[in-house]
Amino acid sequence: MKPTRLACIVTLAVFAAPAQDARAQAAIQQTPDHPAITVHGTTYTPRSIFARNMGTPEDQTTAFPPHKIIGNIYYVGTRTLSSFLVVTPQGNILIDTTYERNVPTIEKSVQQLGFRFSDIKIVLGSHAHGDHQEGDALVKQLTGAQVMAMAEDVPALQAIKPGGKEHPIDKMLHDGEPVRLGDTTLVAHLTPGHTRGCTTWTMKAQEGGKTYDVVIRCSLRPPNMLTPPVIDEFNRSFKLARSLPCDVALGDHPSQFNMQQKYAKLQSRGPNPFIDAETCKLEVDIEEAMFHAILAEQQKPATSASQ
Ligand SMILES: [Zn+2]
Repeated sequence: MKPTRLACIVTLAVFAAPAQDARAQAAIQQTPDHPAITVHGTTYTPRSIFARNMGTPEDQTTAFPPHKIIGNIYYVGTRTLSSFLVVTPQGNILIDTTYERNVPTIEKSVQQLGFRFSDIKIVLGSHAHGDHQEGDALVKQLTGAQVMAMAEDVPALQAIKPGGKEHPIDKMLHDGEPVRLGDTTLVAHLTPGHTRGCTTWTMKAQEGGKTYDVVIRCSLRPPNMLTPPVIDEFNRSFKLARSLPCDVALGDHPSQFNMQQKYAKLQSRGPNPFIDAETCKLEVDIEEAMFHAILAEQQKPATSASQ
């Protein structure tokens, strides 16, 4: 009996993080899969959006080929969890470390692009969920980078402690605050709802003698139950998300900006497919429609709201 028990404990320790993901996957399977919305000809449900964002456990941990997006912005994340490297002459910025176990994968992608992982000076994030910022402590440990986070997300970030490590916060940011490194300025916009401090990043990128507005969106995916403060947050965030100038839209999951299709087009050496003002609002359209559908369902009398 003893060896079996020991094996169980070891298995539990090794697979503790994947088990957490399995729990998240199981939780979404148990939630009622409604409402359904149709946006620009495609039908979405809460479960289909979650599946689109996360893919399989393998997708979450397998590197997507690292590549340049535009100007000094590169993709270094996995198939379904975004991580962006912004390169400057004074060092680099990493946006979203994703799961801690993905950090070596991200490091390898950074190196494949010809950059040094140790040149990361600043770590930023989209929002305080483990699939986006669990790796912050390890990246700081490996690079000495400063971790900066929107003040409203700090309590939730501090609760993310892989292996008991304290979540580093070197600087608290506030809505509209710029983060400068070398010749690059990123601006932190508070777009709460998905988390209290969900942060949309904007910056300018130069390519072919032109300057483009880049928006790196935080998730706008609403929860299944909306409370009055969260409703207010989303209403504010959708409005702000629509007001930001945008030529290039990125997001915390590649499916939110059709990265796979754009990457495929990138190989044909035509115009940069990431410059795509047409679909800048697509993700906002989807999530805002879902938000209003959830709200409408929630406000119906209990008898007709249940399936
Ligand atoms: Zn999230």
